[in-house]
Parts: sequence; structure tokens; C-alpha cells
Amino acid sequence: MENIKIVDNMVLKNALTNLRDKNLKSSQVRKQIEIIAKILLIEALKNENPIYTEVETPLAKGLFEALEEDRYVIVPILRAGLPMLNGCLEVLPEAKAGFLTIKRDEETLKSTLFYERLPDLNGKTVIIVDPMVATGGSLEHAISVIKKHNPEKIISLNIVASPEGIRNVSKFKDVLFYIGQIDKGLNDKGYIIPGIGDAGDRAFNT
Ligand code: URA
Repeated sequence: MENIKIVDNMVLKNALTNLRDKNLKSSQVRKQIEIIAKILLIEALKNENPIYTEVETPLAKGLFEALEEDRYVIVPILRAGLPMLNGCLEVLPEAKAGFLTIKRDEETLKSTLFYERLPDLNGKTVIIVDPMVATGGSLEHAISVIKKHNPEKIISLNIVASPEGIRNVSKFKDVLFYIGQIDKGLNDKGYIIPGIGDAGDRAFNT
């Protein structure tokens, strides 16, 4: 599965281990999610094509490499994707954001789209952020919605995935997935084991 990249980074692992602790306060849950999102984003964009921009340093003028930040559209899946959006916008402050609310039914685990607010995605690089790939249903749904808007490229940043979730989303061969860690599997309620619990509830003290 060439489109699935497990990001091997000790700082990410440290933040994820912190995040797994059920006693972590909400403020710290958000903080660790932000740190992990930044690392995933930096890894995902490390080989991007630069634009050249003229900058005057205190000593001389020059042309320097930069990213065309507003070509990137960060799309969190609400709610749990929100702290990841914050982390990504710290790295790329001029990126655009779009929003999807997709909720899975706790019994059937089927996902439903409730809200879609996206800027023009034509020719853009869309970066979907969603901490958990459990069954992969919400992420599949998000990718299908986004594909309809003709972006140039789709990247997905995810903190923890299950093997079955990865199997489900890997069929999108033109989407690159950057994942923190793959855990053992799912329990009968569709939660990732050992995982981090309900990411949205934990991030927002629900
Ligand atoms: N969503 C979560 O927040 N946690 C899981 O373990 C699975 C889905």
C-alpha cells in the first residue's frame, strides 16, 4: 500500500504516548493533537515544489524558496479534526480552511454528512485532518465529497488508524495518507484499541 505512510518520528511517538493517557486534561489533549498534526504536515509537505520569492534580509536582497501557502486547503472533519486544523495553521498560517461535519451512527457505524463548507478546491492541494481512522467510513465519505470539487491533490493526516480502516481507505490510490501509528483493531463499538478513546469528547471536555 504505497499511498499509506506511517510517519516514523520519535517526537510524534512521544506526543501520541502522552495523548493515550486517559488522565490527560482536555487542554493537553488538544495540545498533543496539535503537535502531532504539525509533524504529520511537515512530513507530508517536505518535498513540495517551491515558489521563489524576493526577500530583503537586513543585509541583502535575494530570491528564496517558499510554499504557496494559499494553494493548501486544510479540511478538518468536525469535531475531532479542529485541534489538528489549529496545528496545521500554525505551520501554514495563510492556508485556507474548509469544513465537513460527518457523524457516524453509534449503532450502525454508518456515516452521514451534516455540513459542508468548502472554498474553491479546483487545482488546490486539500489536506484532510481527522485524528482517528476507525472503520474508515467518515474518511471515505470525506474523500468522496472532496473529489467532486476537482482538487489537484488530496492528502490525509491521521493520528491513529486501525488495520481495517487502513484497508478501507487505501483503495483511494491517488490520496496520500500520513499516519501516526496503526493500532491493534476495533472493539464492538467501533473504537480503536488501545487508541486514545473518543478524540472529540476528550479534546473538548464533552
Ligand atoms: N473515533 C474516535 O474518536 N475514537 C475512536 O477510537 C474511533 C473513532
